[in-house]
Amino acid sequence: MEAALGGERKEEGIRIEIALGGATRTRRGAESSPLLTGWHALWHTPGAVSSHPQDSSTQGPALEVIVARSAGICFGVRSAIEVASRERQPILGPLVHNPKVVDDLARAGIPILERYEELDLLAARGVRQVVITPHGYPRELKEQLRSRGIGYHDATCPVLLDGVYGKIRRFEESGRSIILMGDPAHAEVIASRSYGRRVHVVHSETDADRLPRDLGRVVAICQTTITLEKFSRLVEYIRANGYPGLESVDTRCKPVKDQQEGVEELARSVDAMLVVGGLDSSNSRSLARIAGRHLPGRTYHVDDADRIDPGWLVGVRRLGIGAGTSTPRSQLQAVMDHIRRLHGGVMTFGNGLASSSGSSDVEVSTEH
Ligand code: SF4
Repeated sequence: MEAALGGERKEEGIRIEIALGGATRTRRGAESSPLLTGWHALWHTPGAVSSHPQDSSTQGPALEVIVARSAGICFGVRSAIEVASRERQPILGPLVHNPKVVDDLARAGIPILERYEELDLLAARGVRQVVITPHGYPRELKEQLRSRGIGYHDATCPVLLDGVYGKIRRFEESGRSIILMGDPAHAEVIASRSYGRRVHVVHSETDADRLPRDLGRVVAICQTTITLEKFSRLVEYIRANGYPGLESVDTRCKPVKDQQEGVEELARSVDAMLVVGGLDSSNSRSLARIAGRHLPGRTYHVDDADRIDPGWLVGVRRLGIGAGTSTPRSQLQAVMDHIRRLHGGVMTFGNGLASSSGSSDVEVSTEH
């Protein structure tokens, strides 16, 4: 897995810091000012907020740090963490694409299984209950769980359960075939396509070229975390290449839409952008891609505060921060604290260009 290799990956003008398997690098700037004492003081204050008085010992130019609108954990992930923490049953795959959240659950003693475990083996090992992650789980595998007497706590996000799967069913009932734009290897897409009989997954123009020519009426939907730019581009490509009547329904979820718009707005007005989130998080990577279009070479994607290079702050007066839907508030706070230590001078903090979602982290209980 990339995160264990160490080093640096570059993607469309984004610098992506890759964690070094458990090693920590700590860089201290000037004597750090006291940490912020409460996220709420930062998060809920409209507009810019003066930094701590100790910051008057300016070392360099003032730095304004702005958190993008709606950054951080979404209701689907928050609810899934609550389910996993409460039920304390083995989870079928990493709950979310965020190593910190997964580590916290594992440290609390909750087993993380392979997502597509051999179910007979699971039953033979005496597993009687499992937790399904917010990405969803293929319909036939849910049936197999039931037939083997394995119960499941379904933490599939309601956006998928009530929205996407319902649309797939209704579109098919109306006689249409479905083109699902997304990564065919992503758990969400693997699950979503199983809820229809005529779902074709397209992730690139090459995939689109391989579509059957006789699909009849077709409608395009998308993985909840895809960028609007990619969805629109693929829809236009397919319209121009065999399906001029292709309908399209944007099935990105609201938190993803809000975050993508928030990062785009912010990236237009800052000198550099930092995206905080799992390196294999589709949502976080989309945010980095969006920011990277506006700030090529000055957009950084990190999954840990320690990965922030002090050099990234040189010459930066306004720093934007985005965070994916699986990034806990505590991780965002750690990044803010780290930047404060690295900068060591006058800083102001602001909360995006509009109000945040006000979401909260969920602690994983260690009590049995
Ligand atoms: S990103 Fe969207 S679809 Fe995924 S868990 Fe969050 S709200 Fe649900």
